[in-house]
Amino acid sequence: MNYQVNDKGFYGEFGGAFIPEMLYPNVEELRQNYHKIIVTESFQTEFQQLLKDYVGRPTPLYFAERLSSKYNTKIYLKREDLCHTGAHKINNTIGQILLAKRLGKTRIIAETGAGQHGVATATVCALMGLECIVYMGEIDIKRQAPNVARMKMLGAEVRPATSGSKTLKDATNEAIRDWINNPFDTFYIIGSVVGPHPYPDMVSKFQSIISEEIKHQLLEKEGRENPDYIIACVGGGSNAAGAFYHFLEDENVKLIAVEAAGKGINSGESAATSVLGKIGIIHGSKTLLMQSDDGQITEPYSISAGLDYPGVGPLHAHLHQTKRAEFIAVTDQDAMSAGLNLCKTEGIIPAIESSHALAVLEQKKFGKNDIVIVNLSGRGDKDLNTYIDYFNYK
Ligand SMILES: *Cc1c(COP(=O)(O)O)cnc(C)c1O
Repeated sequence: MNYQVNDKGFYGEFGGAFIPEMLYPNVEELRQNYHKIIVTESFQTEFQQLLKDYVGRPTPLYFAERLSSKYNTKIYLKREDLCHTGAHKINNTIGQILLAKRLGKTRIIAETGAGQHGVATATVCALMGLECIVYMGEIDIKRQAPNVARMKMLGAEVRPATSGSKTLKDATNEAIRDWINNPFDTFYIIGSVVGPHPYPDMVSKFQSIISEEIKHQLLEKEGRENPDYIIACVGGGSNAAGAFYHFLEDENVKLIAVEAAGKGINSGESAATSVLGKIGIIHGSKTLLMQSDDGQITEPYSISAGLDYPGVGPLHAHLHQTKRAEFIAVTDQDAMSAGLNLCKTEGIIPAIESSHALAVLEQKKFGKNDIVIVNLSGRGDKDLNTYIDYFNYK
């Protein structure tokens, strides 16, 4: 089995570049150049240097002793929560901004839902002194005020998307429109393993630093490179793609992808795409997505803003279809209690997205000698108000 993208941009039957003709030159420029550029020594030197000195990599692979004894297995946490800006997203935005510079682009656009990708993009634009415009649904701007403030402090312009449901997919439409109108000087930074080819592959490669480090760190700690399980949450799927990447071809490493079941898979308020999704096209890519009978994208729901996405990237649709990864959907309630459990057993407050991955420890039985890695995609600071409301800490 092959889990790498093919030269047409497909993972099995998923992926590709289903884009309007007017976007073709932009995407084609990127497709022809991304791989050439990112394998050069000068790119890699600058990328690795920034990951080390700016992001703070390598992030620790931490043996969670009390959590391990609670679940009677060996649990390691990959601490992406310790990255600069609080999550894995910065690995990707650093990679894309270096690529944009090498392509001679001077203006950066992005779309954001919860604001996390917008903040990661605004951060690297400030770092490189590039103009930054972030499209965000009008409703999301109201819901995510602290992240809007962060982006503005970092020098970005936040432009409201006022059409449709005024959320992420509408912001995406605005960003695409902008890119069509500004084909020469503008680079579009996408925040997950979604979008037309080559984005899913490009973002997977930038995030693959996560599994590369895991291999070295586990060898040092356990005398072997491969764990038995890797668990990661999936919104679009970038932290999971990064944590899985160097283990994809090694079927002894079991991969668990965790989606948000919201208030329950069949409650009508969920983001469990692998269960509820059907094949369709979103964001220029053929993948699984949640849609109505007549093919309109339905509004997803999760208590965690980062998992509140109506599709999954094409790699994950392929991992699901081939059964290479097991997909588990976790409710708001189970995620919140798993998050609180990590606080009390390890002194780490996780992002609510990451809490979904942690909830699998409660739901699935692992062997005493199994090595289980949970990718802790982000820290919980941004979610404090949600935790306060949910647990009534007044
Ligand atoms: C954005 C985000 C996610 C979901 O995005 P993926 O592309 O699926 O990784 C998960 N965790 C955190 C902390 C996030 O900020």
